[in-house]
Amino acid sequence: MLDRTQFYFAALCCALAPAAWCGATFSFESAPGRLPKNVVPISYDVRIVPDADALRLTGTESVQLQFRAATATVQFNSLNETLNHVLLDGKPVKSVTSNDEQQLTTVTLTRPVSGLHTLSFSYSGKIETQPQGLFAQKYTKPGGGQAVLLSTQMEATDARRMFPCWDEPSFRAYFHLTVTVPKAWATVGNMPIARRTVHGELATVSFLRSPKMSSYLVEFTAGDLRDVSAARDGTRFSVWAVAGHEQDGAVALASAQDILADYNEYFAHPYPLPKLDSIAVPGGFSGAMENWGAITYNDRVLLVSPSSTMQNRQTVFSIQAHEMAHQWFGDLVTMGWWDDTWLNESFASWLAAKETAARNPAWRWWEQEDESRESAMAADARATSHAIEQHVTNELEALNSFDSDITYSKGEALLRMLEAYIGEDVFRQGIRSYIKNRAYSNAAAADLWNALGQASGKNIPAVAAPWIEKPGFPLVSVNAACDSSGNRSVTLRQKRFLLNGGSANAAEWQVPLRIRTGTAAPRTVLLDAREQKTAAGRCDEPLSVNADAVGYYRVQYDADTLAVNTRAFPSAVDGDRIALLDDQWALVGSGEAPLQNFLALASSMGADRDARAWQQIVRALAIIEYAERGAPRYQTFAAYARALIKPVADELGWDALPTETPDVGDLRDTLLRDLSRWDDQATIGEARRRFAAFIQDPHGVSADAQATLLAIVGQNADAATFAQLHALAKGAKDDTFMQRCYMALARVRDPELARQVVQIALSDEIPPQANTLGLRLIFTLAREHPRLSWDTYIANQDQLMKSVGSDGRALVIAQQTPVAYWDALPLDQLEGWAHANTPKGVSDNLARGMETAHHLAAQKQALVKAADAYLASAKQAAR
Ligand SMILES: [Zn+2]
Repeated sequence: MLDRTQFYFAALCCALAPAAWCGATFSFESAPGRLPKNVVPISYDVRIVPDADALRLTGTESVQLQFRAATATVQFNSLNETLNHVLLDGKPVKSVTSNDEQQLTTVTLTRPVSGLHTLSFSYSGKIETQPQGLFAQKYTKPGGGQAVLLSTQMEATDARRMFPCWDEPSFRAYFHLTVTVPKAWATVGNMPIARRTVHGELATVSFLRSPKMSSYLVEFTAGDLRDVSAARDGTRFSVWAVAGHEQDGAVALASAQDILADYNEYFAHPYPLPKLDSIAVPGGFSGAMENWGAITYNDRVLLVSPSSTMQNRQTVFSIQAHEMAHQWFGDLVTMGWWDDTWLNESFASWLAAKETAARNPAWRWWEQEDESRESAMAADARATSHAIEQHVTNELEALNSFDSDITYSKGEALLRMLEAYIGEDVFRQGIRSYIKNRAYSNAAAADLWNALGQASGKNIPAVAAPWIEKPGFPLVSVNAACDSSGNRSVTLRQKRFLLNGGSANAAEWQVPLRIRTGTAAPRTVLLDAREQKTAAGRCDEPLSVNADAVGYYRVQYDADTLAVNTRAFPSAVDGDRIALLDDQWALVGSGEAPLQNFLALASSMGADRDARAWQQIVRALAIIEYAERGAPRYQTFAAYARALIKPVADELGWDALPTETPDVGDLRDTLLRDLSRWDDQATIGEARRRFAAFIQDPHGVSADAQATLLAIVGQNADAATFAQLHALAKGAKDDTFMQRCYMALARVRDPELARQVVQIALSDEIPPQANTLGLRLIFTLAREHPRLSWDTYIANQDQLMKSVGSDGRALVIAQQTPVAYWDALPLDQLEGWAHANTPKGVSDNLARGMETAHHLAAQKQALVKAADAYLASAKQAAR
């Protein structure tokens, strides 16, 4: 459908802007997809009667259709469903065929029709046991005993498993859902309940009709659930959990109200539904899903119990902020097709970070987000990386487009860079007009760039498009020249940055650089050529070409400029220091800078205690320590690494100060864990002493301190300590605490005890709501016992991955397996296994996973060499 608004803005845009701006704006006609566009759904009326015990559902459906051209063929999606009594306007059709391989049903009418008609049928289908379509999740009730609840996960292509539908995002329609469930159950859907009728042991619940939306946003949850709720600014908020856990929703309930108020203001388009439910789903449901008006979360990322840590709270807030951003970017305005999944995900990730930072200044959130930016850049530096905007020909391949590093984190970093380039207010103005223009409809990338371009008066499409249409990012090299009075000019050059250095290809970007000289405010320079010159302060001043670490690119300084920056390092602006550490470490990895440059920065930290900078240093040391294991100079390196971080650890101590910010607590945890890993006997001894006290008085150790304490004790456990930890896990009343204890066991160094971890991970002592824990235990075990973990993993993959569903399993094999096991067996064997076990649809992901595995293996050799040389030269210098 081409609605009027869309036609108007397409015309306006073409009149005002160069032709290139208009090429790829959304149009229903040209949106990709498999379903024919000559028949479109206007409104669905779906009634289902699920039988959770039998894992079957029966239903009836009536769809009002617009035949846009005369045809006798109607085609839509279905999977594992049998349709009966198929009627058009109450009269039998000629024939119906369903093809589960194609996931399509074709209805042939007795004659061609056009205009408005109603297709109706009854049907039966399956309830899944994994989060795909309508699924049943078993769990242990807080008071003991087993129970089951029903919930849904439709994105990307699983609404068709619950009811036959036009299951592509551009087919927006109204949904009217009615369900019949046990009368004791609570029911939640996208919209408030319109009517509830009890008959015998059952209740039939009808929800209000939804707004016009995409099928992947349909939601329905039912079970023995309770909620906590509140109302603000005309919206009713509820947080739902299995009965007995509802009070753990109080923190999320408060945050949801704050976040919605902020977003109502940001978008200048108030949240359009009367209510917003947040639902905690136990079990293998991963992350969260932004269903309009009824967001589902894995219970671990929504509920906050007395056992939750600050990190748990941060996760809850930031994921809420992400899912709620989708209520606009995704639900109100939806990408036209799965190749623009990033439009949803990048934006939600960026706004969530911005909101989390704004509402919680003490969390120093952008510094935390630097870690996800780094992860994205590591993934994007692979020769096999892909563009953010990814071609998806068939919606069954949509899975490929959900890639947390590229679709989420790279996109987030790009939007942040663009916002800094055009300014916060102008950026928001562009977003507001995009939302206004595209509300209740779909969009493509160009719609967003056009809105931002019009708001800023800058050629945003030209700047932004290459970043999303091409893989990778630039390495900007900086070569300074000084004139006779000490003024500096720099020559800036760009080439694509690759993991292994390699040769530069022809890729070129328009790079909005932020340049700071000394401590001045940064200025923006758009690098839009292969080579460019600009003035850059005085030669003796430090220079940052990625001020505040806002940009998504790497910088390599010439030797003299790096020396000036290293001297000024302790007093550098935090963000500039972070960018320099990130880049120097990446350049070590790509072979374009010596390790000693990075270690020189680490040694110049002096008394500075910036948490993110120390995290970066410790992380690098941990990678080298792992590489050195088994090498002749291991002990020398471990002693060097301990000596570098010990003063910081001693200063922070074991106990949090009431005034400290969460990043300091995180740093303490990292330092203590690594000191334990690097065999620091004082740290291990103190952990044992504290654990003995904890056993006497569990309330004496805060939730925040517990995770690290238990991890250190678990790592160094003997049989008696292991048994104590195991007993704590089995006896835990609280799921968060239970998982913490089990995860501590999986860190154990003792090989005999490691075998016990395997038995535990495969046993049925882990309750069903924690059914992904077995897999996580085996992956964690890989750090200390790679081969044992690998053998267990391949011998028990069906059992371990049962909880994650077939899509999840494909991604675990293609993406996580190579990174977890690169050091467990020869890479050709690893690759052979992964190829034999990976479905075709994710073969690109596997190629990327294997490139990382090869890089890690090569880096290990290089790091040992470089670290040994550095230690030898340091010893020489000390003589
Ligand atoms: Zn998302």
